[in-house]
Amino acid sequence: MSERDIPGSAMVIVAHPDDAEFTMAGTIAGWIRAGCRVIYVLCTDGNAGSHEPGMTRERLAQIRREEQRAACETLGVSDIVFLGYDDGQLQPTLDLRRDLVRLIRQHKPEVVLTSDPTSLFRSDRYINHPDHRAAGQAALDAVAPASAMPLLWPEAGGPHRVLKVYVYGNSEPNQWVDITETIELKIAALKQHASQMGDWDPTDRIKGWNAEVGKEHGMEYAESFRVITLEREESDD
Ligand SMILES: [Zn+2]
Repeated sequence: MSERDIPGSAMVIVAHPDDAEFTMAGTIAGWIRAGCRVIYVLCTDGNAGSHEPGMTRERLAQIRREEQRAACETLGVSDIVFLGYDDGQLQPTLDLRRDLVRLIRQHKPEVVLTSDPTSLFRSDRYINHPDHRAAGQAALDAVAPASAMPLLWPEAGGPHRVLKVYVYGNSEPNQWVDITETIELKIAALKQHASQMGDWDPTDRIKGWNAEVGKEHGMEYAESFRVITLEREESDD
């Protein structure tokens, strides 16, 4: 990835603690190393993500927030916002869209990264979680056109135009990011989500996925995205 592709600021909008670490943390870590300021927005606390007997939603939310904070510290993420919607019940409502518009207007990211709301079958063995689709839909709807519309929810802040959206999980990616330098950091951040890992070591799975993605693009490890450029940057003229 050339230096001019690295944004000065980025907002990651995902459904659950660990979503960004599984999917795009190699890219995020590389951008942070290059000086990008990254803010995470967690729509839910992942408070239904446990099969442990005796676990409560309240305790799990607390555990998963702490794990996400530790993962963010590993990556160097500067800010985390937990919106506190319930895990397993996320919907792309107007309330969620307005919450995201408020955060986009407040933090003014150049780039937003999120999951693909159209992705239902990522493989022959996985049905995509509805919360992932809901978070992606709400994020895209908040970016365009809502955040840039001064007359829409003016109480949520002045308009802000996001330049690019990086969508993870689309079947037709158009950008491959070399994460060879940051894959160990990605795995270290993922391992901070101990409540989700149990005894499982994600190293081989992550390396396998990202090697597969990078293979045809001359990269040892890569993450791929569908990148939507909403407005040309001046340097492109
Ligand atoms: Zn998830």
